[in-house]
Amino acid sequence: MRAIVVGAGPGGATAALQLARAGAQVWLAERSAWPREKTCGDGVSPLGVREGNALSMHFEGRLRLESALVSTPHERSFRGGWPRATPWGTTIERRTFDAQIVDAAVAAGAEFLPETQVRAVESEARGVTAVLESHGTQRSLRADVAVIGEGATGSLASKLGFAPYRSRLVAIRGYVDAAAPLVPEYGLFYDKIVTPGYGWVFPMDARRANVGICVDERTLARRGGNLRGLLDRWLAESRFARELLGESPRLDGVKGGIIPTGRARTKPRIFLVGDAAGVADPFTAEGIYQAIHSARLAASALAESKDLAEAATRYERHAALFDRNEGAARWLRATFGPSIEICANRAEKNPSFGDYLNTAVFFSKNSMSSFVLGLLRNW
Ligand SMILES: Cc1cc2nc3c(=O)[nH]c(=O)nc-3n(C[C@H](O)[C@H](O)[C@H](O)COP(=O)(O)OP(=O)(O)OC[C@H]3O[C@@H](n4cnc5c(N)ncnc54)[C@H](O)[C@@H]3O)c2cc1C
Repeated sequence: MRAIVVGAGPGGATAALQLARAGAQVWLAERSAWPREKTCGDGVSPLGVREGNALSMHFEGRLRLESALVSTPHERSFRGGWPRATPWGTTIERRTFDAQIVDAAVAAGAEFLPETQVRAVESEARGVTAVLESHGTQRSLRADVAVIGEGATGSLASKLGFAPYRSRLVAIRGYVDAAAPLVPEYGLFYDKIVTPGYGWVFPMDARRANVGICVDERTLARRGGNLRGLLDRWLAESRFARELLGESPRLDGVKGGIIPTGRARTKPRIFLVGDAAGVADPFTAEGIYQAIHSARLAASALAESKDLAEAATRYERHAALFDRNEGAARWLRATFGPSIEICANRAEKNPSFGDYLNTAVFFSKNSMSSFVLGLLRNW
């Protein structure tokens, strides 16, 4: 099989790696000079570390984040870890993280084409044709299948007739030197000003943190529509942000982006993965683990099916787990304010309940019923 893969983020690079490992001839086209920066919170959850381990990535020497401090709109807070058998989470600048997967794909035999923009992909009965442009020169490439991991722009997919995403979150991040040494844990702060979104403080090392906010588009519109302004307000008004970062933290590298969710994922000979496929978590905006996982599902469907039609059906069926998150996110958004207060109340009295909540947030993403059952069992 010959595959053209578009985009070298975690989605595209993982697809290239897995397809090359399965014996396919793979071209991985990336429009940026490599390695490139990607606007992100840089938080790789325990699930992301687990996926990375499965790809033989290296996390040694990284900050180990083994717990999360979570606050509520009424400024309650609880701290929780997760089971010892599961890996820790971490933070990694995306320039380094994404390059590791690309290196593995190249080692597995994929041909990497940096500074190469895919201008168009056409799918015909007998194959796909991709039009590539590099330094002003265009050429065409023929393959059996195209895996599109172009990220949140989703523009090639739109040209191919995929329907728009069902919803979008927006997020903005910056880097800051903290006021005092940071505890190595995720900080997730559901302050009134951003809830049902949240502000985050993710330590990159003992003193430096990636900080930001993530909200859904409607919440942003209700708060005035200015994402940078909302970040500044959160930094000024959040007790937790002020305690960790000081009164007037000086941010550098401030950049925002969108996290689109909910979309069909296949057309004949075309497979979308990662943000292009809208698989990010529609409540937390976590998308690295989902990009890798969706790419693994697409690649294994392609490698193990008798033909492309069966592969598409198999991928759509397995990737439906990401759609179940959409219903869960809607439910969480509607009930979040009161329910997080009740849960925090409970966690204050019973720390192991706090552990359960964090475990649920980071691990049981796909089933609301197991989440609710777990809540009842751990109450
Ligand atoms: C502010 C912010 C904070 C976030 N924080 C986190 C976090 O802490 N943890 C987390 O898990 N997720 C986070 N996310 C989400 C996460 O960044 C994405 O879900 C993830 O990067 C998706 O990976 P991907 O491979 O699908 O796309 P990307 O990582 O966006 O990669 C797509 C690649 O395709 C390339 N490309 C695009 N079009 C073309 C083309 N036509 N031809 C060739 N190349 C092309 C791009 O240059 C890019 O390199 C955050 C997002 C934002 C905006």
